[in-house]
Amino acid sequence: MPLPESDFQNIRTWIRNCDRLHPDCPPPPNRTRRLHEIPSWVLDLKDGRIVPGSTASRYVALSYVWPAMDNEKVTLELWTGNLRQFQKHGFLDSIKQDFLPRVISDTIELVKDLGERYLWIDRLCIVQDGQMKRSEIENMDNIYSGADFTIIAAASSGLYVDLDRPHEPMGFSLLRSYLYNKLLKSKWATRGWTFQEQVLSRRAVIFVDGDVFWDCGNAMWSRESTDPRPEANRGYSARREEQLDGHEMAVAMPPSVFPDFRLWRELVCLYSGRELTYPQDVLSAFTGIVNALSETFPGGFVGGLPVLFLDSALLWQPFSKGKRRTWTQGRSEDADMPKTNLPSWSWCGWHAVVDPSSLHVHSLEWLRPELRTKPLVEWSVLSEDLRYEKKLPESRILEDYCRRFLDWGDWNTPRDWSRHDVRYPPRNSTWAYSETHPPEVDPKPSYAFTHSADPTKLFSHPIPMASPGRKPTTSTAQNWPYLHCETTTGLFKIESILTRKYTDKPKRRQQSRVASLKVPVTSLDKFRYGPEGEEMCRVVSLADAAGRPAGLLRIMDDDNDNEIKPGQGVELMAISTGSMGWEEVSSSYEENVDIFKSFSYKGGNVHMFEQDPPLDDDDDDDDTDSESSPLTFRPRRAVVVETAYSQTDRPWACGDEDYRFYNVLWIERRGEVAYRRAAGRVVKGVWEANCREKSRVVLG
Ligand SMILES: [Zn+2]
Repeated sequence: MPLPESDFQNIRTWIRNCDRLHPDCPPPPNRTRRLHEIPSWVLDLKDGRIVPGSTASRYVALSYVWPAMDNEKVTLELWTGNLRQFQKHGFLDSIKQDFLPRVISDTIELVKDLGERYLWIDRLCIVQDGQMKRSEIENMDNIYSGADFTIIAAASSGLYVDLDRPHEPMGFSLLRSYLYNKLLKSKWATRGWTFQEQVLSRRAVIFVDGDVFWDCGNAMWSRESTDPRPEANRGYSARREEQLDGHEMAVAMPPSVFPDFRLWRELVCLYSGRELTYPQDVLSAFTGIVNALSETFPGGFVGGLPVLFLDSALLWQPFSKGKRRTWTQGRSEDADMPKTNLPSWSWCGWHAVVDPSSLHVHSLEWLRPELRTKPLVEWSVLSEDLRYEKKLPESRILEDYCRRFLDWGDWNTPRDWSRHDVRYPPRNSTWAYSETHPPEVDPKPSYAFTHSADPTKLFSHPIPMASPGRKPTTSTAQNWPYLHCETTTGLFKIESILTRKYTDKPKRRQQSRVASLKVPVTSLDKFRYGPEGEEMCRVVSLADAAGRPAGLLRIMDDDNDNEIKPGQGVELMAISTGSMGWEEVSSSYEENVDIFKSFSYKGGNVHMFEQDPPLDDDDDDDDTDSESSPLTFRPRRAVVVETAYSQTDRPWACGDEDYRFYNVLWIERRGEVAYRRAAGRVVKGVWEANCREKSRVVLG
């Protein structure tokens, strides 16, 4: 079934207009790129064979989901055994159409008709059993960002199914919502590999059920609005988003010159819940993104976490219940790979959506600088056999900068940095790490800093920048699956378990923010209104041996529902320290659930929790005078105090009463290695009164 002529013409017009009007959209031609960035093979549609990628001037890439094929059917893929055949003139034309899934044969026809000669499709251009497969996968960022454009095949079968008649005219933002929602409801959008294929592409023709549209860094065009002027397509909502400090992201990952923790958070929160046929691919399918980000993150990444922000990144929490991602057997190429499970300390070891509100670099987000997460240990990674150690000194650098510029007020700005009076920032500048305007802080900072690489971005203090052109060697989980440190550990008891009541179903507000990279992840419906009730994570409150309230953990897995019982002992390890003001306590998931037995997300749904019978504490000793003891769990008292205040007179002005704590992991040991079961906080004084001597912990 050929594509209707009018749609075909639309695609041609979109490409032409984008070429003409958006000089920053098309990628540089292949001849100007380094050889190792170009795909090894591309399909030459004119000669009907594969040719080395370096011979093509430009190529089109396909992003699709491999369809479930009839088992009887032989499908064509590139193997070492047929590599010579694939290079024969006319080979592609000689094979029966039956050997190719329809989405591929349709794409080949479309690309030919568009007058393009070269096309890249993973299974036909990567030798599936070859030595090079891994390096091609590592090169995915270059393959997709270097494609002239990408065809995203997100329709339920083939490339296009029954394109609808053009819609009644609707406003641009409505139309965009409509099309993006179709895309996000597709199977394509649930799959792991397709995520980076979209994010890394500079521009794309997107096929969804019944529709086709164009998305590039500067415009989004549909069949109804092909007006090439980008501003003609930007309705009220697009303009409003731009006011959110220009945080509009299109199909392409925005270029960045600084280590953009917020961008990393966006990408991880959108990706972490996706499905993978082979869970061990979770980092491989994200490698292109990690590679692209590594250009600007000094220290690179371990297990998908940025080393520069390691202490903050290790505090990731699940947005809703999750499960461990475990190795799945059954693929020949994995035979010689070590079968360790993915690290439990990283999001990549879990099939769970990461909660964006758990990931902050406080000193850069304009919260009071003393509330930052501070390093406690020296991290290193260990090799698969636990014999080789690599230190991660970059994980301490940010704290050095915080101390120097925030605590000591050093006025000597480092090279390439400038200091500005915060009341008169440079024209058109926006804050690099704040979602909107910086929240009110008291006392107000006097200065903002800019770096010469991008003088429009304001920072609350200078930060380490990567040297241009020097990419740190990224450490994937496969090479370095273990995280190692010397730290204090402690034994505590589960005091009570807070589980969501199943009686009332929360009312979901019917509002549709488009879950795409066009809006910040924190303002997406899902994250604003919270998970479905049954999906809410349980929270456990902890007690020390004396029965004093000690802290809280957010439980992420639901596999062993009955395994957690009040009174049960848990071993915790301290990974960093932190503090919160009352404002943060009152919006924190764990503390709210504990104190009010309810939690409301920003959007307003209130979730009620019920408490399991609390721990029967019959081994009371004489150390329980918690009211006068310095070990009082302060937030508990203070937030209760808060309810006595009116809305306009809240007590977080008493800033000297910050809640200070240790960030802890609940660990379970198996042999030499400890595994993260949950993460949470223990009150500083309680931890220090209970913890044991420092010891070596290897996290797997
Ligand atoms: Zn464009």
